[in-house]
Amino acid sequence: MNNRRINICRPGYGASCSLCCGSHNYRMHHDEIEELFHSRSDEGSPRPYQHPYTVSYEKLYRDAMQCPHVGLSDDNEVFCLIYSEPDKKGELLSFFKGTCSNFYCPAWDVLTDKQVVFAARLMKDWFYYSLLINDIEAVQNLCASYSAPEDVPEEVLDELKEDILDRFIAEDGK
Ligand code: SF4
Ligand code: SF4
Repeated sequence: MNNRRINICRPGYGASCSLCCGSHNYRMHHDEIEELFHSRSDEGSPRPYQHPYTVSYEKLYRDAMQCPHVGLSDDNEVFCLIYSEPDKKGELLSFFKGTCSNFYCPAWDVLTDKQVVFAARLMKDWFYYSLLINDIEAVQNLCASYSAPEDVPEEVLDELKEDILDRFIAEDGK
């Protein structure tokens, strides 16, 4: 992680991730999630006080987060709506400092910058990029099979999206 130049959560190319904040932990179609995130961003700031463990909708994973502060920018990038709010207090401040600011998923340790950029250029979004970057083996296999994201055939990409979503949903144990 020491020599990393790319921010895996915000790698550019239209890709972004907030999976660890619970961006995908909704029993909803991803178009509905997207609508919800845009509506939160449109509300502007300051955000109402809500602890990141607050749950407002039915979850896919009972034990995982569904943070109410994930939003979507006009460019369709997921981001933390309270990241820059200066007056975080009490439990929210302590969770933010203790967890949000210090969490790094396995991709940070395992994937190279080149592999991250490959995944970002392939997906160019928040929904499938988040799933792919957290499926380390899938990223490694793609990079071993294709020299550039543009070489991945359309039908292979469609199948990949279906697979990583199925794998994610199947993990909920229901
Ligand atoms: S799951 Fe990883 S890449 Fe995604 S937001 Fe969390 S730390 Fe960043
Ligand atoms: S407060 Fe922000 S960084 Fe922390 S879990 Fe929620 S959206 Fe993620």
